[in-house]
Amino acid sequence: MVTPTVTVYGASWCPDCRRSKKFLGEQFVPYHWVDIEQDKEGEKFVLEKNAGKRIIPTIVFEDGSFLVEPTNAELATKLGLKTEAKKVYYDLIIIGGGPAGLTAAIYAAREGADTLLIERSGLGGQAGITVGLDNFPGFPEGISGQEFSERVTQQARRFGVEILQAVEVERLATEEGYHEVYTSDGKHYHSRAVLLATGASYRRLEVPGEDDYIGAGIHFCATCDGPFYKGAGEIAVIGGGNSAVEEGLHLTSFADKVILLVRGDKLTASQIAIDKVTEPGSRVEVRYNTVVDAFEGQDSKLRTIKYHTQNNNRPEEIHPAAAFIFIGQVPNTAFLKDYVETDKYGFILSGHDLLHGREAPKFDPLPFETSAPGLFVAGDARFGSTKQVASAVGEGAAAAISIREFLRRS
Ligand SMILES: Cc1cc2nc3c(=O)[nH]c(=O)nc-3n(C[C@H](O)[C@H](O)[C@H](O)COP(=O)(O)OP(=O)(O)OC[C@H]3O[C@@H](n4cnc5c(N)ncnc54)[C@H](O)[C@@H]3O)c2cc1C
Repeated sequence: MVTPTVTVYGASWCPDCRRSKKFLGEQFVPYHWVDIEQDKEGEKFVLEKNAGKRIIPTIVFEDGSFLVEPTNAELATKLGLKTEAKKVYYDLIIIGGGPAGLTAAIYAAREGADTLLIERSGLGGQAGITVGLDNFPGFPEGISGQEFSERVTQQARRFGVEILQAVEVERLATEEGYHEVYTSDGKHYHSRAVLLATGASYRRLEVPGEDDYIGAGIHFCATCDGPFYKGAGEIAVIGGGNSAVEEGLHLTSFADKVILLVRGDKLTASQIAIDKVTEPGSRVEVRYNTVVDAFEGQDSKLRTIKYHTQNNNRPEEIHPAAAFIFIGQVPNTAFLKDYVETDKYGFILSGHDLLHGREAPKFDPLPFETSAPGLFVAGDARFGSTKQVASAVGEGAAAAISIREFLRRS
C-alpha cells in the first residue's frame, strides 16, 4: 500500500472536488480525502488556508504547498507532467496512450520514426484502471493494470517516444500533405502520419456508488473478470442486449446463478441467445422492467444493488457477489465526427472494411488505414476490434508496421 502524499479537502457534493480526485486517480497519484462536512479539523484547516473562506477543493502537496480550486492543467504542472512537445513536426503523432497507442509508439520509435504520443488522462488507458490483468500472455500470476501500464510506458520512453499527458486532442485537419493535430491547450502539431488509438469507454449507469466499486465488485468485461468469481453463488448482470445476454450465459460457468436486470420488458439479443437464457433449467433469471438506483458496499467491496420495478415502483435489493454492466460501449471518437468514416456507433472503419458495401475510397488503404490517407486506427476505437488488451497490443504493433510502409512511400 502506497502512502498518500497529497491531501484533498472537499465535500461529496462538490463537482470540482470529484474532477480533481478523478484526475489524481487517473495519474495514479495516491491521495488522502478529507470530507470537510464530516471532519471539523479539516474544515478549520480549509478556512485557515483561505483567509476564512470555505473554498474547495483545497489540495495540499508533500512539500506543504497547496492549490485552491486548481484546473486539471494546473494540477498537471504541479505534478510535473509534460504537457508541451519539444517540436512542432513529427513523423508520427499517436493520439491515446492505452495499450494500442503505447505499443505502436514502441514499434515506430524503435525503428527511428520521430514519435509524439498525446494522452488526455492516465497512461495505460482502460488497462491502467484494471485491477488485475489475468489473461495477458507472459504473466502467469497476472499483473496489475497499473504495473502493466508503467512497464509499457517505460519501454516507450526507452526508445525516445515523446509523451504528453493531460492534453486532449480536440480536432484534426490537413494542410499541404501534413496532418494537423489541435490540442486542448491551444497548441497544434504537424505530422506525416497519425494513429488514432483513442479506445472506447464502457457506458455507465451513472447511479450513486457506481464509481466507488468499479473493480471491487462492479465490472464491465466477463471474459476479463468473470474467472475471479469462480464458485460464487449469484452474479448480477445489468442490460438486455446481445452483450448482456451472452456475457450472462458465460458467467454461469463461474457462478451458480446469474440474475439479469433488464430495464425494458423484453430482451433485445439474438433469438438463439434469448432461447438459451429462457430455456427450462437455465441458470439465468431474467427480471424485466428493473431500474438500478444505487450500488452499496462494505469494506470497499460491493455488497448490494438497489433497484425498483417500473410497474409498481417497489424498491428491491439483491446481494450478488458481483455486478457486470453491459449497456454498451462508446468509442472515444466524437472529436473526429465527419473527418473519417465510422459505423453508426462511431467505431472507425479501416483497411478492407472500407471496401465493403460502400463507395470505395479513392486510394488503396493499407491495413489499419482509415478513409483519410495517412490516418490510421488501432485498438478499441477500431470497427471490428475485440476489446482486449492482448488484441489492442497486437493491433498497435500491426498498425505501426503499416505506418512504416506509409512513411516509406510518402
Ligand atoms: C475495468 C476494465 C477491465 C478490463 N479488464 C481487462 C482484462 O482483464 N483483460 C483484457 O484483455 N482486457 C480488459 N479490459 C479491456 C482493455 O482494457 C481494453 O480492450 C484495452 O485497454 C483497449 O486498449 P486501447 O489502447 O485500444 O484503448 P484504451 O485503453 O481505451 O486507451 C485509449 C486512450 O486514449 C485516450 N484518449 C481518448 N481520446 C483522446 C483524445 N481526444 N486525446 C487524447 N487522448 C485520448 C484515453 O484517455 C485512453 O487513455 C478491461 C477494460 C476495463 C474498462
